[in-house]
Amino acid sequence: MVNSKIKIVDFGLGNFKQRIMTGDDNWTITYDIFNECKQLYKNKLSQEDSEIVDIISYKLKTDDKMPWEVDNSEKHFLKNNPTELWCEYLIFRYKLRVYPSLKKVIDFPVYLLIEPVSVCNLRCVMCFQVDKTFTKKPYMGVMKLDLFKKIIDEAVQGGTKAITLASRGEPTMHKKLGEMLDYASGKFFEIKLNTNGTILTEKLCHTILSSGVNSLVWSIDAPKKELYEQIRVRGNFDEVIDNIKMFNEIKEKYYSDSPILTTASGVMFREDQDIDEFNNFFKKIADQVALQPCEERWDTYFNEVQPDINNPCMYLWERMYIWFDGICNPCDVDYKSYLETGNINEKSIKEVWHGEVYTKLRDDHLSDKRSNWNPCDRCGIQ
Ligand code: SF4
Repeated sequence: MVNSKIKIVDFGLGNFKQRIMTGDDNWTITYDIFNECKQLYKNKLSQEDSEIVDIISYKLKTDDKMPWEVDNSEKHFLKNNPTELWCEYLIFRYKLRVYPSLKKVIDFPVYLLIEPVSVCNLRCVMCFQVDKTFTKKPYMGVMKLDLFKKIIDEAVQGGTKAITLASRGEPTMHKKLGEMLDYASGKFFEIKLNTNGTILTEKLCHTILSSGVNSLVWSIDAPKKELYEQIRVRGNFDEVIDNIKMFNEIKEKYYSDSPILTTASGVMFREDQDIDEFNNFFKKIADQVALQPCEERWDTYFNEVQPDINNPCMYLWERMYIWFDGICNPCDVDYKSYLETGNINEKSIKEVWHGEVYTKLRDDHLSDKRSNWNPCDRCGIQ
């Protein structure tokens, strides 16, 4: 049954926003270091990229800061990759982190979230997979390998630098996930995989570690069996922890140099989720630990309309989702694709990104008319 609650929920957690509790460090980039990287890349700079490099240089010189707050994953990338790559990487991160706030439409999306499957084996209480009108056709399905390869080829050619393999479903349920990872291997700065960790195999651990996945997110919300299994319905806490330990052992034994960054990531929405307990438990088995507030997305369409929220949604400039069947969407809050922006079986990524629906969505969001769109009119993301 679908709940009917408003989008912004007060869980009594004070001003809890997001906490990355481990993995923080003080590593930073300086003007001199950036200048050296710039020299290594200067012959390859387009006009647009040159302008970005100038902005970064200026900001480092005058404020000793980057134009955005460099996060842990960015520090991790820089520390684990040769300086020859830094300039190009930071240009990409500028486009991903700064362009959306400037509402600048990039020529080609630098970040794609590609969904191998829309099916999930769990029924987490805060997820749209509990919406029974969703967990059936036409919404449920598996991406064909040929379509995946077509998307990857186009993405590489167009200039995508980061992909996430996940969206509405559990990616490890795709029987050819290994082949997908192998195909994408070495083609992007960032390959991220989100998983609930329930059905991991030794073989898949090897594939993840050998194919250049550099960010692996364990979706897990509690360090105790009873609470975990109340939230992640159908999940078995002991099996998941054993799987994470198996992954860590394989990594240590066969891929000790792997720069993969693992994150134990939880959704915070119950008062009995103890932040310190979560941190202390998961920091022993993951590189970093993160908790974020719950978005009440499982019943997005049934949320009350929120006329007070009228700011443009950054997702429209930042990323694009591609579902298993080729449908493109600006987000997975809209898990039934009311906002469908096109289909990759009929149009190119670039055509969809600059197409009529995306353009109208952006225009409306910029002119206080996001309420023209369901579910933007009842969604808290800005
Ligand atoms: S406002 Fe919400 S529903 Fe609309 S595009 Fe953004 S995330 Fe999706």
